[in-house]
Amino acid sequence: MPLRIGHGFDSHRLVEGRKLILGGVEIPFYKGLLGHSDADVLCHAITDAIIGGLGLGDIGRHFPDTDPAWKNADSMFLLGNVVNMAVEQGFEIGWIDCTLIAEKPKIAPHIEAMKARIASAGIPADRINIKAKTAEGMGPVGRGEGMEAYAVCLLL
Ligand code: MG
Repeated sequence: MPLRIGHGFDSHRLVEGRKLILGGVEIPFYKGLLGHSDADVLCHAITDAIIGGLGLGDIGRHFPDTDPAWKNADSMFLLGNVVNMAVEQGFEIGWIDCTLIAEKPKIAPHIEAMKARIASAGIPADRINIKAKTAEGMGPVGRGEGMEAYAVCLLL
């Protein structure tokens, strides 16, 4: 089986009146990410990286936001589905590296909890690295209008 890599990117707008869910963990903040599902931007980037490595298009093809089944969906469930797709094709998740870009709140204290939650979707915690950065005040993310995440995945 040849090695595969996949890349994922996602962004969501921050609004009041929504829970902030990142890496499957609810983080106390006065705003949350807006989306059809729970809008877990980090999970979506990881999910898209795995789908990319499998050569199966993108997250929207598998979990369309026009489908009421995915309204307010737990993105960990979507991630678990995609991990299963990889296993069904004979791959294992060799490594995930991801970067979340968020101006506020502080993300670092929640990273271990995120890794533990992502492990419950079938990606061992010792095979994932999560980095958090700010946008140094620049652009829409820097102004706190939203968050972005990038991920790469190695499939073995
Ligand atoms: Mg998304």
